[in-house]
Amino acid sequence: MSKYIFITGGVVSSVGKGITAASIGTLLKSRQITVSVQKLDPYLNVDPGTMSPYQHGEVFVTQDGAETDLDLGNYERFIDINLTANSNVTSGQIYSTVIAKERRGDFLGGTIQVVPHVITEIKERFKRLAKESKAEVIIIEVGGTVGDIEGQPFLEAIRQMRKDVGRDNVFYIHVTLLPYLNFTQELKTKPTQHSVNELRRIGIQPDVIICRSDYPIPEGIRDKISLFCDVDQQAVIPLPTAETIYEVPLTLEKETLGQLIVDKLGLKAKRPDLSQWEELVSRLKTPHEPVNIALVGKYVELKDAYFSVREALHHAALHHNRGLNLTWVQSEELEENGRDALLRSAQGIIIPGGFGIRGIEGMIKAASYARTNKIPYLGLCLGLQVMVIEFARYVLNSTEPNSTEFDDATHYPVIDLLPEQKSVKNKGGTMRRGKYPCQLVDSSRAAKAYGDSLVSERHRHRFEFNNQFRTQLQEAGMVYSGLSPDGRLVEICELSDHPWMVSCQFHPEFNSRPNRPHPLFRDFIGAAKDVLREGAQPTLPLSP
Ligand code: GLN
Repeated sequence: MSKYIFITGGVVSSVGKGITAASIGTLLKSRQITVSVQKLDPYLNVDPGTMSPYQHGEVFVTQDGAETDLDLGNYERFIDINLTANSNVTSGQIYSTVIAKERRGDFLGGTIQVVPHVITEIKERFKRLAKESKAEVIIIEVGGTVGDIEGQPFLEAIRQMRKDVGRDNVFYIHVTLLPYLNFTQELKTKPTQHSVNELRRIGIQPDVIICRSDYPIPEGIRDKISLFCDVDQQAVIPLPTAETIYEVPLTLEKETLGQLIVDKLGLKAKRPDLSQWEELVSRLKTPHEPVNIALVGKYVELKDAYFSVREALHHAALHHNRGLNLTWVQSEELEENGRDALLRSAQGIIIPGGFGIRGIEGMIKAASYARTNKIPYLGLCLGLQVMVIEFARYVLNSTEPNSTEFDDATHYPVIDLLPEQKSVKNKGGTMRRGKYPCQLVDSSRAAKAYGDSLVSERHRHRFEFNNQFRTQLQEAGMVYSGLSPDGRLVEICELSDHPWMVSCQFHPEFNSRPNRPHPLFRDFIGAAKDVLREGAQPTLPLSP
């Protein structure tokens, strides 16, 4: 039977509960304990797939095609596992399941209530993941903050689990923030006391309290929290803001969290081996000459919208012993004349995924800049579509080629809906999603990067390369270096007459790991690092 670790948050959201959950996974895995992770999101959307990235940040796509919370990306990267749809549960899913059961007549005669019906359905999801993953430990992160109205059913469910599976099989961790008051120059524990009181009011006594803070946490503060919140002093764990998120498992290990969990849950554990992780962090913290990359997108004001892309770039830069200097370029700004200057210091340009027409012309300008100035370019999903539109406009000498997503009357619909997408009316959960195979073409840059001929990557899009234009663009120098095995869909394209301009219709960023950068990101940075930046050109000899 699996054991459960439940993680709740107090005081404010965005204090790093997700990274904490992921790091606990790292600690257990380093002891050869098998783990899986689940994120509970209290909102009523069925999944984040229809939410604006401004509201929600990146939508992370699992191999089986679920559109999920970006924390799942951190779990996958930190624990090096592949999760499934069962790892993200929302109130929307719970309520729609319960109501569908009611309509079917499953509860005939009964009144359907939050307790027990909704709570039972939530606990069902915990058990489903335990059964599917067969992991020894299931880590469950409750989204939001203790005290939120919509989070109550999830908290009640995790409380009931103590009785359902036995108190030796559950472990509760509360992650809180210690605010710093500038005028008294001290960290305050009162909000933490209140949020722990709130937890205890509903019947949950935390085993461990993890205290986030931007400042070092003195011993006295630990004692105070231990006393008022009734946890051992050793179980009050300080977690000051780290230089890199990958350092968090090491900090938690130093504070003996791994051992605390193993002891309380009675787990069979090997000696922890975090040597690879230590090496990774020490390399990340060593200053390296940076590679300048411009990320041109529509949601750049919210960096979380491109979480996995940024991480994948970091992993790739580290592989080349380089730092990453990432410039976030709002694509709309490039639409004004003369704004190419924003790209001038870039050694590589990346265009990530996106939806809707806003900023598209700016992205097309960025692709044109990369093509004509021979700057390495990596296009991800929308980035491929932009590259194809730009190249078609150049080849056909017309401004008309477009995607029907942005201009449905264009005479040159170089990107168009898949035939099977044309009749789709519902927006939620209807894109081409999840893992699909891709056959690589020998001696292409893509095949060279992967060192393989058949790969499998995660998708999330409605539009595709329109095969009507294949020959024409091919004759002008576009290479279709990755195709679906039946040859019908263009999955990767590149330009023959360019040092490295490669795009893919899928999202490789989801498969990148800190110690195993994705091959396309790796080779993109590899090409970019050799580009001379403006201002960094070697000076010419004054005399021959
Ligand atoms: N909007 C494009 C499509 O639906 C690209 C999607 C994406 O970048 N994920 O095909």
